[in-house]
Amino acid sequence: MNPTLRKTKIIATLGPATSSAEMIGKLIDAGLNIARLNMSHAPHDWVRQVVRDIRAAAAARQISVGLMMDTQGPAIRTGDLPAVLDLKPGQKFTLTVRGERSEELHSVDVNYENFVNDISVDDVVLLDNGTLRMKVLTKHANKIECEVLTEGKLGSRRHINLPGVKVSLPALTAKDLADVELGLELGVDFIALSFVREAKDIQQLKAVIARSPHRPLIIAKIEDQQAVLNLNEIIQESDAVMVARGDLGIEVPYEELPIIQRKVVKTCLRVGRPVIVATHMLESMIENPMPTRAEITDVANAVFEQSDAIMLSGETTVGKYPLACLEVFDKISRRIERSGGANYHERADLTNPRQKLVRSAVVMADELQADAIVVITMRGNMARHTSWMRPRHSPIFAICDSQVIADSLTINWAVTPVVIPFNHEDPEKTIALALETLVAKGMLRGGNTAVVITSVAAGVNMVDAVQMRVV
Ligand code: PEP
Repeated sequence: MNPTLRKTKIIATLGPATSSAEMIGKLIDAGLNIARLNMSHAPHDWVRQVVRDIRAAAAARQISVGLMMDTQGPAIRTGDLPAVLDLKPGQKFTLTVRGERSEELHSVDVNYENFVNDISVDDVVLLDNGTLRMKVLTKHANKIECEVLTEGKLGSRRHINLPGVKVSLPALTAKDLADVELGLELGVDFIALSFVREAKDIQQLKAVIARSPHRPLIIAKIEDQQAVLNLNEIIQESDAVMVARGDLGIEVPYEELPIIQRKVVKTCLRVGRPVIVATHMLESMIENPMPTRAEITDVANAVFEQSDAIMLSGETTVGKYPLACLEVFDKISRRIERSGGANYHERADLTNPRQKLVRSAVVMADELQADAIVVITMRGNMARHTSWMRPRHSPIFAICDSQVIADSLTINWAVTPVVIPFNHEDPEKTIALALETLVAKGMLRGGNTAVVITSVAAGVNMVDAVQMRVV
């Protein structure tokens, strides 16, 4: 096994602590695979600048770094308050819509007009990431009256969660559509869709993307009860999936969270979709240079489950130790990868002959303890299948002739994309150049054994082949 290569991919969200060109370079040197731009907090000028800086830093290092645009989605928020309110259990509090808020009332306006229709008496409203809880007592045309259940402070523009309530907001808001347009213009590799509730939500985004020559992959964020109910159809419709534990942990009873995480990871490995475990993985490192024991074990669990990627949010946007967080992710991943994994891919539902061919190639690589699997891939699919089969020893080198395809493979477990020009007349020359390039980059050495998977055009057909090569 090539000890320099980590299999689990690292995603870090960029923010004030990490968006300078210098910090982007340092994150990449520390092992960043995908930079995430959270559109809830990202002005378009800033996005343009960091995209330029990430591309320049990746090109200077001749490696692939993926770009993920994460939409805000149909988020419900409170409006502005003149001052922070100190709320105590038993107090009455009014949530209003359509500007109904009155200065005399203990109240705040909510950005979602249908709020009053969607919610029922006795439902619980969670504010500010679940830190404040209120129960609905009565409903009126433009307001609901609540009783405060837990003590806490309420500031302006706080996030609202309505666990179990079927929210009728559109899957893509006007802001999301404008952000997606920017993502298409800039050629981001992934668009993460927030608060996906059903497969139709993904189809809506697909329809928008279909109008563009550039087609980013769609990541479905699983973050509420509706998504959990419709999990199978959502996973089938998407290109990749994120267990967005921040909102999910508020929207479902917290003891369900580990069960749901495992279910999502297992389902993704059954049907062959990359899966990301996200949020609060190293939360304490926003302030501290070392993770807690519980965080170390949580990261190790996601790596043991063989999730494709693990993700940092606040830790790298505003945290004091963003580079240390990458080091912690990297160290834990490498150690746990050496100790084995859950192997959920053994229950993979293979639906076509190319997937079965790839599985045979991975069995061969496992038997040979091959030093590498080299996949010559036009559109990336054979490399994606190879990653899905979770080779036991061999890193996967995805040889592409396009930087766009290479960048789209930054999410896939154990895949290192390498870009070379293809020789369409003589596929043997492409294999020779691929092996030479891997040797030149120090990824293979003379005498190494590689399993080579190729897909070449023969007239109108594609001919797939698996070979064993000694470098
Ligand atoms: C989450 O809720 O875990 C998440 C990743 O989404 P966001 O950061 O947009 O809230």
